[in-house]
Amino acid sequence: MTTKIIYFTVHGKLERAEFRADCSAADVKDLFRAAAEVGPHHILKMYNPSGSVVNISPRLEANSTESCYRLEVVASDLQSVSVSPQLDNMEYRLHHLESKVLEDVGKSPDIICELKSQVESFKRKLESVKNLSWMGLFKEDGHQQLSAFPPKPKRPQTSEQEERQQVRMRFLNMSSLQVTEEVREHLKTPIFDNWQWEEAEMLVLLQVMFTDLDFLTAFHIELHVLQNFLFQVYCNYNNIPFHNFQHCFCVTQMMYGLIWLADLRNKLGRIDLFIMLTSALCHDLDHPGYNNVYQINAQTDLALRYNDISPLENHHCAVAFGILSKPESNILKNMTSEQYKYIRGGMIKCILATDMARHNEILNKFKMIQPVFNFTNKDHKEVLMKIMVKVSDISNEARPMAVAEPWLDCLLQEFFNQSDTEKLKGLPVTPFMDRDKVCRPSSQTNFIRFVLLPLVTELTEMFPCLEQHILEPVRRALEYYSDMERATEEEEQEEGGPKP
Ligand code: 5GP
Ligand code: MN
Repeated sequence: MTTKIIYFTVHGKLERAEFRADCSAADVKDLFRAAAEVGPHHILKMYNPSGSVVNISPRLEANSTESCYRLEVVASDLQSVSVSPQLDNMEYRLHHLESKVLEDVGKSPDIICELKSQVESFKRKLESVKNLSWMGLFKEDGHQQLSAFPPKPKRPQTSEQEERQQVRMRFLNMSSLQVTEEVREHLKTPIFDNWQWEEAEMLVLLQVMFTDLDFLTAFHIELHVLQNFLFQVYCNYNNIPFHNFQHCFCVTQMMYGLIWLADLRNKLGRIDLFIMLTSALCHDLDHPGYNNVYQINAQTDLALRYNDISPLENHHCAVAFGILSKPESNILKNMTSEQYKYIRGGMIKCILATDMARHNEILNKFKMIQPVFNFTNKDHKEVLMKIMVKVSDISNEARPMAVAEPWLDCLLQEFFNQSDTEKLKGLPVTPFMDRDKVCRPSSQTNFIRFVLLPLVTELTEMFPCLEQHILEPVRRALEYYSDMERATEEEEQEEGGPKP
């Protein structure tokens, strides 16, 4: 059996760990805990040289001192979780004591004032520990602190605000006329590579999508209002691993590509195309990086506000209409009240349809109407529009491998963040997000086989031209990850059975 040698830094020091490749994941974790000089209740995170989080398991790839990992102690879980109730209890007892003394003496004695100030100071210290706040345990930076309703813009850090203003300036200083015909054509295809473009450029490309579909003339949208709207959309996506502005761009660009590939300009009304593109753009606004199951289990503000019914999708949609409620960014401003009503209804339906809990319900409806589909039937059209947004939303694997693969890293990073938090808070752990259970190939084979492929197969039935552009790449991705899964299994068998 081979021995693995791992080089890593911890607390700024280079260390070397050695373990047998067939030892258990728990043993490997204990080894790294010992190296970090922390106990069993601490949370460790291991980063590879490119900054991605990797699993601390016997499968950790052996490396050299030049490519060493970085081990970080992120938090101590049980202690920090349990401090909070203890503190609450202490505060309560102190308050009780104070009122009793007040009743008897009429004024708080110095000793109680002193104790109160100590408790306050300890609380402040706890709340300002940066590496605890990412878990949402404390007030200031917690992801549970959701914007008020109607959405109140969060006050970003100054540097973040400055960065956004720079993006705005670069965006406004670029003209969509600078976008060449070649890029405009490329933008209409699913092979477009989002990773080549910076944020200001993506904003210009989004502007091109709106202009090249003639939305500005058809709906009397002023260019500066469209630019304000796009910039606000950009500002309202959070800086998180997956559900960020880049994801918003990809989903919108895929929708744009589908509109051209399936020749929808000649099959649907312009207002329907407008609904689909704008819904794609807004579909994950202010996503906190934790899914609906988490929102409901953790009883977050969002789950409370929306009574556990698609809390995130309801929020994304409400944030979108919050942006549209301001005249300076209201691209619906010059529409008739019928048009506004139709667009609002359409966007709500399309955005709410992106809740994956409703995946089978929507796909089955589409399958049923497929044989008798009629573009003049309002209900049929509505289901198709939902399907288009859904396909765009989950279509990374229809893109070239070089574009799709980094997206999987982003998704797993967000998944693992959620399951780490779930473990830390004692909430049910979402199995497909658990870093101890999930690996890249199995995550993709299951997702593609059971979710993505059935969906794109159905859409291709309706638009056969999508076979080459969407269905084929998805099939190839399934083959690629199935091969990888098989190779991993064989490797495990050679090494003496599956690893925990
Ligand atoms: P969204 O949250 O982006 O609106 O909805 C799409 C959901 O589908 C994601 O949160 C994620 O759970 C799932 N999903 C999308 N693309 C992929 C993928 O490539 N692999 C896996 N495993 N899940 C995906
Ligand atoms: Mn999405």
